[in-house]
Amino acid sequence: MEVVYYPDPVLRRGGKPIPAIDEQLRATASEMLEVMYRYRGVGLAAPQVGLELDLMVLNPSGDKKDKDEEMVLVNPKIVERKGSEFGEEGCLSFPGIYADVERNLEITVEYQDLEGETKKIHFDDFLARIIQHELDHLTGVLFVDRVSSVEKLRIRGKLQELEQKFQAQT
Ligand code: ZN
Repeated sequence: MEVVYYPDPVLRRGGKPIPAIDEQLRATASEMLEVMYRYRGVGLAAPQVGLELDLMVLNPSGDKKDKDEEMVLVNPKIVERKGSEFGEEGCLSFPGIYADVERNLEITVEYQDLEGETKKIHFDDFLARIIQHELDHLTGVLFVDRVSSVEKLRIRGKLQELEQKFQAQT
């Protein structure tokens, strides 16, 4: 399992609802966590490893040792949002690119855990930002879609570099 880079079209396909939470899904989630740590990320969505699943993993510390901060969200949905704030984001599918993105400050998310239990949890600040970023991946939205035109201009050269690299591989 490897991270897929922009502009791979799989990133635009997003995820699909997961009908059953089973051993295979648990194995996929734990492999995704390994990939996330290996690439030094704090969050990873299934489309970023080429899987069309409504699945995300995260750990705000980005440190494998902080097991208790790991989260796996299956079929997540935002049911409430509040406030907004700009903050810098990066993405494992866009190596070397960082840009300001506006996100809600607080969100309430409904999802299933790997036991199949439905949870409704309130998140704020950094965790809320990570989850909104990863949720976007599940609908094929990328963080560069949400940046201002000034930011877009600033990162345009780096995006073109990634596009050229991708074309050279295919
Ligand atoms: Zn991302």
